[in-house]
Amino acid sequence: MHGAAERALGVHRVLEPPGVLPQAALRLDTDPAIGPDEVRIAVQRLNLDAASFRQLSEACGGNGDAVREAVLAIVAERGKMQNPVTGSGGMLIGVVDAVGAESPLGLAAGQRVATLVSLTLTPLRITDGLVRWDGRSEQVPAEGTAILFARSIAAVLPDDLPEPVALALLDVCGAPAATARVVERSGARSVVVLGAAGKSGCLSLAAARAAGASSLTGLVRDEAEAAALTAAGLADRVVVADATDPLAVAAAVGTPADLTVVCVDVPGAEHGAVLATAQGGTVVFFSMATSFPAAALGAEGMAADVTMLVGNGYTPGHAAMALDLYRTTPGVRALVDPRVHA
Ligand code: NAP
Repeated sequence: MHGAAERALGVHRVLEPPGVLPQAALRLDTDPAIGPDEVRIAVQRLNLDAASFRQLSEACGGNGDAVREAVLAIVAERGKMQNPVTGSGGMLIGVVDAVGAESPLGLAAGQRVATLVSLTLTPLRITDGLVRWDGRSEQVPAEGTAILFARSIAAVLPDDLPEPVALALLDVCGAPAATARVVERSGARSVVVLGAAGKSGCLSLAAARAAGASSLTGLVRDEAEAAALTAAGLADRVVVADATDPLAVAAAVGTPADLTVVCVDVPGAEHGAVLATAQGGTVVFFSMATSFPAAALGAEGMAADVTMLVGNGYTPGHAAMALDLYRTTPGVRALVDPRVHA
């Protein structure tokens, strides 16, 4: 039997190996019958983490049917959506289906919510074979059930935004919150965002501006993204470089910045990020494709005195901040909408 504190973390749902937290588990119990401290969600849509979706897509040669089968196989085997290569998941939206009498989450049956805890630790059962998904986009129409624990978090979906947009924003809402926090706490003035035309990237630029940063550089991968980011007006300077080419990043960025935020969805951006950052500055690695050894040993090897932060997906107020930035910043809408509706 697990105590209330352990149950709150979902330990009672771990099937193997015993004793680990759900995120580290190989397999979770997805039984839709809930305990008194749990909440059951009727799943409507999954949002796969960008790094995970890209990896699956590339591994399947872009074949959507194969991607769908791969996702179904992972969920069937693990009882959760955790990509075994990237280790990342995503999040989901659905309708609150049942609420245990002792759940502290404050949710009520019938509410439409987005789970703000990762799919990597959320017990998930898919019942429709993902038949409405072509395997070609991060957003996955789905039917099934998901379980929230006492220490999970969920946001009631806003009425004024389309569901896919809210889902996309809430998936990456940790990035603008982390960016704003570093700017406010460290007084960073110059900020570089790698992958600046993407969802988390453009939100991070907008958050840096709102928090008081005065010199914003957006690094993008090609001229098409450069044109889109320039038109969005979120950066003072837009530069083009491959974020995985450290010397190209350093040359494109020029004078290193107080803060660098890594928002690409590919591996290999660690060294460029370190080179883009001034001595005494900070790097936020929001990308799930980040390698801890590459970042730590790379910084050491370059004698770079930079503070390196893992982009925590949770910061108090992160969901409201991301939704507000989208509502109030036309440039964010211009960059996010085509990615969501694509
Ligand atoms: P996104 O919208 O796909 O944006 C990624 C951007 O990076 C795109 O503009 C992409 O360009 C660009 N890019 C890819 N390779 C590049 C390269 N070599 N050089 C320069 N730019 C490049 O992704 P997102 O949803 O914002 O997610 C970004 C990252 O955040 C992902 O790694 C995801 O896993 C991570 N994430 C972290 C958390 C957390 O809690 N820490 C939560 C959610 C997501 P193209 O579109 O042209 O490829």
